[in-house]
Amino acid sequence: MFLVRPTATFEPVGFSSSKEVYQFIEKIGRTCYKSESGITDNSSTEFVKMILMRGHLSVLEHVSLTARIILDRGISHELVRHRLASYSQESTRYCNYKKDGNLIFVAPHWLLSMLNSLPLEEITFKNVDTIVSRMRTEYFTKNKTHISNKEKERIIDFLNICMQSELYYLKQVDAGHKPEDARGGLVHHIKTEIVMTANLRNWLHVFSLRTSKFAHPDMREIMNMLYSNFMFNFPTVAQFSEMERGKKLADLIVNSKKQISMCNFKDKYGNDLEDNRVISDLFKTLSQEYGEYLS
Ligand SMILES: Cc1cc2nc3c(=O)[nH]c(=O)nc-3n(C[C@H](O)[C@H](O)[C@H](O)COP(=O)(O)OP(=O)(O)OC[C@H]3O[C@@H](n4cnc5c(N)ncnc54)[C@H](O)[C@@H]3O)c2cc1C
Repeated sequence: MFLVRPTATFEPVGFSSSKEVYQFIEKIGRTCYKSESGITDNSSTEFVKMILMRGHLSVLEHVSLTARIILDRGISHELVRHRLASYSQESTRYCNYKKDGNLIFVAPHWLLSMLNSLPLEEITFKNVDTIVSRMRTEYFTKNKTHISNKEKERIIDFLNICMQSELYYLKQVDAGHKPEDARGGLVHHIKTEIVMTANLRNWLHVFSLRTSKFAHPDMREIMNMLYSNFMFNFPTVAQFSEMERGKKLADLIVNSKKQISMCNFKDKYGNDLEDNRVISDLFKTLSQEYGEYLS
């Protein structure tokens, strides 16, 4: 087996620059106001800002971005729940992983957080101890100078389950079974490649759900890669999404606070009950983090 990092990049399709994208959005958007005569060399960014501020978001749906993502198959199941997008994914029915000799698994976030780099060589039951021992000394992160025994055990357990999965798969295929039948033994960590196309409006929606702290850390890792690329290329649109996310949370805090204030979680002596304190603490934390959006 081999271990790889997750990766995510946008594919270059259609437009050669973000300016061209904004100009295209402007051209479409001005249809609504019949104000095409207002188009100049530099008018597109301001126009895009204007439609975003008004919530005239359907105009963003005319531009789509395509991302190529390598991730673990478990996380890909979460990704494809986004219905307003198109997907093409490596098939575990038609791709025979035995062809390459080794199965590839994606290193999870907790392992990546311990290591500077991944071992490039094949990992087998025979050399797993040596590789993990080397990980403890050679690959530790800048913030970490040592991997504890407990962490070592976690890494070995992870590598073992991937290798067991590989062993089962290869045995099934060697026995003449089809990949579509052998795939039942593959663990969620198996690497998959997926191409996802969505329009700009839906990317904003996906980013807001999947870069949040409630998203799975492995999903967040993928989406942060795409989001930083998106922010670099489309700062005007990206800033808007940050603002919207903040505003939604602010609404949530304000509304929930109102509802909570109508409840009376007190004991007979007038003291706050535990539930009340827990909820107040939660809102305090949320307010501290998102307070700038509350004014
Ligand atoms: C942190 C987190 C935890 C999650 N946990 C679970 C879980 O435990 N179990 C689980 O099953 N799922 C879970 N999900 C998946 C989640 O319920 C959504 O299916 C997924 O995030 C896709 O989001 P979406 O429907 O907004 O996006 P899309 O499917 O891309 O839709 C985009 C938007 O279009 C609109 N839309 C699309 N279809 C409809 C429709 N039929 N009716 C009305 N409006 C529609 C909605 O406004 C929607 O937000 C989780 C998601 C997150 C982010």
